[in-house]
Amino acid sequence: MTALEDSQRIQRIALQRLESLQRAGVLQLPKAAVIEDPAEEPVDEIAVDSPQIAKEPALPPTKAAAKVTAAMKTTGQKTATQETAAKSRLSKCKEELALIQYEVARCTLCGELVENRTQTVFGVGNPQARLCFFGEAPGADEDRQGEPFVGRAGKLLNDIISKGMGLTRDEIYILNVLKCRPPGNRNPAPDEVTNCRQFFERQLETIQPEFICCLGAIAAQSLLETTTSVGRLRGQIHDYKGISVVVTYHPAYLLRKPAAKTETWKDIKILLDAMELPIPKRS
Ligand code: SF4
Repeated sequence: MTALEDSQRIQRIALQRLESLQRAGVLQLPKAAVIEDPAEEPVDEIAVDSPQIAKEPALPPTKAAAKVTAAMKTTGQKTATQETAAKSRLSKCKEELALIQYEVARCTLCGELVENRTQTVFGVGNPQARLCFFGEAPGADEDRQGEPFVGRAGKLLNDIISKGMGLTRDEIYILNVLKCRPPGNRNPAPDEVTNCRQFFERQLETIQPEFICCLGAIAAQSLLETTTSVGRLRGQIHDYKGISVVVTYHPAYLLRKPAAKTETWKDIKILLDAMELPIPKRS
């Protein structure tokens, strides 16, 4: 990761944390202490986080002002450069995702799925999301509407995202292992997962999320290339190509077994903690 990309990532994290704090009810952050007269205030006693700043000797007012002005100019130039780079990266992401979506829409690798699908279901959300939710395959509603997680399970996922995490669907990205609906909502066959792997891997490479939340066994096992059960994969953070992965139950499973929501909430807290996001206030 280049210094510029790292800087953009930090900006993105800071912005998302501020938005999350706001949604969690934090409307004001404490101001830094104001030193009336630097000459009378020993530098070592100034309450700052950075030891470098604390050790820097106090400057005469004119020199201090000049230094602040210079720093502001530098910051301003950097911000403008960063903004341009961020716009350029966003546009490249959108272009790349559009290209993959075009290929998906024309894909005929899985004969049975192609015969039965109404349309392909690519993925939806922020092309530069920090967090991707990774599901299994489109169901009947998704096949009809062309968007993942739009039925009853989708509503429950929305609740997890908004009420459970304090985020919106626009801030995250949602995709599935398979882009075509398996007939009768059967589980994806191993060869279908192999066929579609190229697409979800490229989506994730393009988006470059920091976190992936796998919803259910098929998603987790396909991504992590394991046969371990969801029960054993839960409760820890896994790694997929440098991306932190949390595993939880599929919302459709939670609709059948509401008691498992307690376990899902534990997984979401692991995710919030890893993302350094606050737990939203319960309404
Ligand atoms: S599921 Fe994936 S690999 Fe199979 S036909 Fe659909 S897009 Fe192609």
